[in-house]
Amino acid sequence: MTLTTATAAANGADYAATASQAYQAALSVIEQVEPRIAEATRQELADQRSSLKLIASENYASPAVLLTMGSWFSDKYAEGTVGHRFYAACQNVDTVEAIAAEHARELFGAEYAYVQPHSGIDANLVAFWAILANRVELPELAEVGVKGINDLSEEQWESLRHKFGHQRALGMSLDAGGHLTHGFRPNISGKMFHQRSYGTDPTTQLIDYDQVRAAAREFKPLVLIAGYSAYPRRVNFAKMREIADEVGATFMVDMAHFAGLVAGKVFTGEEDPVPYAHIVTSTTHKSLRGPRGGLVLATKEYADSVDRGCPMVLGGPMAHVMAAKAVALAEARTTGFQTYAQQVADNAKALAEGFTRRGATLVTGGTDNHLVLLDVSGYGLTGRQAESALLDAGIVSNRNAVPSDPNGAWYTSGVRLGTPALTTRGFGADEFDRVAELAVDVLSGTTPATASNGKPGKARYVLADGLADRTKAACAELLADFPLYPGLQL
Ligand SMILES: *Cc1c(COP(=O)(O)O)cnc(C)c1O
Repeated sequence: MTLTTATAAANGADYAATASQAYQAALSVIEQVEPRIAEATRQELADQRSSLKLIASENYASPAVLLTMGSWFSDKYAEGTVGHRFYAACQNVDTVEAIAAEHARELFGAEYAYVQPHSGIDANLVAFWAILANRVELPELAEVGVKGINDLSEEQWESLRHKFGHQRALGMSLDAGGHLTHGFRPNISGKMFHQRSYGTDPTTQLIDYDQVRAAAREFKPLVLIAGYSAYPRRVNFAKMREIADEVGATFMVDMAHFAGLVAGKVFTGEEDPVPYAHIVTSTTHKSLRGPRGGLVLATKEYADSVDRGCPMVLGGPMAHVMAAKAVALAEARTTGFQTYAQQVADNAKALAEGFTRRGATLVTGGTDNHLVLLDVSGYGLTGRQAESALLDAGIVSNRNAVPSDPNGAWYTSGVRLGTPALTTRGFGADEFDRVAELAVDVLSGTTPATASNGKPGKARYVLADGLADRTKAACAELLADFPLYPGLQL
């Protein structure tokens, strides 16, 4: 099947009817072994169908992607790389991995792609260790005149281990929208690297490239990391690369959140990380709309080190997921996906405008990607109260810190809302404007409640009478015109 017919088929009635039969058959097979799992699987579909999903990191993968994962590829061990495995009989895994990598290279215009990482965090670990291996291990090995790390004496190995553990990384701060895996202490990356972060301008809340440059000059990181999970704006990767070059840092971009916008050609030129970064990491299940997993793109220079992700930080690759990545990446190479990605961005704009028109405060004043970050302090609420009140009313979002958040990372002062999932269901600008209206009604009708110790509560709240039920009904009405997996009779 060619790439253009792939979407035509995916939209056809035959495709839906066949997928429907496939799921019915699969569930009846599962039912014979553990009926509660079949039931929970059905229930999950029902719940997803009836929920207004605004979680910025979630999406709905196609039936083709989902069905691809349920195969005997799950049974195969294939440690190593294509054509170079530590297990026998991997010829079909080779086929699958090669196709997935080819799609990834073609889609993103990358010199090299590695599709084995099981998740976003794994992709980042592969990237970090590839950078360390490239920039720390090899010169040291050459100096002492040995071929491989196994030839080093115990003493030499100790000194190398110390070198690995004393490198520096500079990434975006958490409250500005950065990610835990970019060198923060609770994550293993924070134990690997001596880390510092750059924030955003206190007035505009935008990345201040001069500040990034100043931090880089002072700190001299080995790795400069760009990428975020809660920053509602685009990043100029050309400027970031310039800064990295100035201080001799490897430039890494984690596009876990916005890979779909890169794939769909919404982020082009200096907003496309691939031509500028040495290494790009991603998840495959967020805006990219594939199976749960990760991938790494790299320049030729880093390809060999990334290729050693297994055994460096990964065990056996999940061949069934690599197969599903191949299917999702094939979907992402269609013009239909580009239309989708543009709609994701247009919808985020509509959502932001809907909020602003109704007096809400947005971090940075708006969005030009797939998410908005609502500062809910104006409603007298914490992010936690807002998240719970919205959920009671049928709106699924998640709380998130805002820059310099006075309520910290647990209670927070913000709520993050994204458009990828509902855009997959077919929502357009009008529907997202309605979402803003419903959310503002809920937040305006919610008051904080006193905690059990009599202090002002950060978690408790009360919704106005009838507000939750009224909003739930309105959400159901909104969703009714945009069925999830139409044609799937389950
Ligand atoms: C989601 C995310 C990750 C982690 O992805 P997982 O698949 O959950 O491990 C890493 N980096 C960024 C920027 C993310 O948004």
